[in-house]
Amino acid sequence: MTTRGVAILGSTGSIGTSALRVIARQRSAFHVAALTAFSNAALLAEQAAAFDPSYVGLARAGVTANSGWHHGDECLTEAAERDDVDIVLNAIVGAVGLKATLAGLERGKRVALANKESLVMGGALVMDAARRGGGELVPVDSEHSAILQCIAGRPMSEVRRLVLTASGGPFRTLSASDLEHVTLADALAHPTWRMGRKITVDSATLANKALEVIEAHFLFGVPYDRIDVVVHPQSVVHSFVEFVDGSVLAQMGAPNMELPILYALTYPDRVADDGVSQFDPVAQSPLQFEPVRQREFPALALGIAAGRAGGAAPAVFNAANEQAVALFLEGAIGFNDIAPAIDGALSRHGTAPGGSLDAILAADALARRCVQELLR
Ligand code: NAD
Ligand code: MG
Repeated sequence: MTTRGVAILGSTGSIGTSALRVIARQRSAFHVAALTAFSNAALLAEQAAAFDPSYVGLARAGVTANSGWHHGDECLTEAAERDDVDIVLNAIVGAVGLKATLAGLERGKRVALANKESLVMGGALVMDAARRGGGELVPVDSEHSAILQCIAGRPMSEVRRLVLTASGGPFRTLSASDLEHVTLADALAHPTWRMGRKITVDSATLANKALEVIEAHFLFGVPYDRIDVVVHPQSVVHSFVEFVDGSVLAQMGAPNMELPILYALTYPDRVADDGVSQFDPVAQSPLQFEPVRQREFPALALGIAAGRAGGAAPAVFNAANEQAVALFLEGAIGFNDIAPAIDGALSRHGTAPGGSLDAILAADALARRCVQELLR
C-alpha cells in the first residue's frame, strides 16, 4: 500500500517534534517526504536519519555544510510544492509561514495548519488559494480541531455560535498592577501547555486567542459576533460548538497536541492510535469556566477589532505582536509594553489595504517598524 507523503515545515519545533512522534506510530499510512527547520542542524540531521525524507531544508544558510540539504528562505515553499508531498504540515512560527501555506494550497495539497499567523495575515488570500488550487486547509490548533470535530460534516447553517476556550495563561488571576512586575520566566511558565516561546507569550497576553478568533472566522466562515471566548484553566474542553437548536457539543481530552496533529492528517477519518492517554473525567474534575478579564488582557479585544476592521488590520495586529514579543523575549521591554505597542501600530497602520500579498507584506513591514520606533 502506498503511504501519504508529509512535509513537516518547522520539524525541530514543539509541533514539529510532536508530529514526528505521531508519524512514527502511523508508518502504515504516512511517511515523511520533506523536513525543514531554521537553524538546529544537529536535530534536523537526527530527524533526517530516522525518517529518510527526499528533501531536507535548513532556512538559515551557512549553518551546516551537509551535502544534499537545501538552504535559504525558499526551502519552505520548495518543500511545500514537491510532487511527493501530499500533506504540508506548516509548523513554522510567525508570518514567515505565509508563502508556504499559499504554495501548498495552490498546488492542491492538504495544508495541516499549525501556523495560524499565515491565516490571520492573509485570510482572504489563503482561502482563495485553496479554492483556486483545489487545496484543503485543515487546522492543527487544538481549538479549531475541536470545532471541526464537533461540526463533523454538518452544514454551517446549523451552527449558531463558536465558543473558543482559553487557558488564561500563567497570569490568569493577576491584577493589572501585578502584571507590571511579571518577568519573562513567569510568562514562559504556562500552566497547561508546553509550546514554543512565541506562542507561550501570546498565551500569557491572550494575543493568541485573538489570533485564534480570526483563524476561526476564516476557517469556518463564521462572523465575529458569533465567536466567543471563555477562560477554562484546565484546558480539557478544547472548544464548544452551539447549534441552532440550542445543543452544545464540546471536544475534550488532555492538553496534548498529538491528537489534533493526527486528526489533521487523517481527517475526516479517525485511526487507532495509542499515543494519547485515556481520558479520566474524575481525575479532570472540577472543570472551571470564567469570563475573560478584558481590562487586564487588552490584546484580545485589539485583535478581534482588527479582525472586524479587515483589510490589512489583522496583518498589522499579527506583525506588531510578533515584533513586540520578540523584544520582550530579548528582555528589551516589559510584559505590559506589548499591548500598547500593538495598539499604536494599529492606530497608525490599521487602515492599510490588504488586497494582495504585496500589500499584506508591506503592512507587515510597516507594523514591525512602527513597534520598533514606539518601543525604542
Ligand atoms: P517552535 O518555536 O517550537 O518551532 C518553530 C519551528 O519553526 C522550528 O522548527 C523553527 O526552526 C522553525 N522556524 C522558526 N523561524 C523560522 C524561519 N524564519 N524560517 C524557517 N523556519 C523557521 O514553535 P511551535 O510552538 O511549534 O509553534 C509553531 C506554530 O504552531 C506557531 O504558529 C504556533 O502558534 C502554532 N501552534 C503551536 C502549538 C503548540 O502546542 N506548540 C499549539 C497550537 C498552535
Ligand atoms: Mg490553540
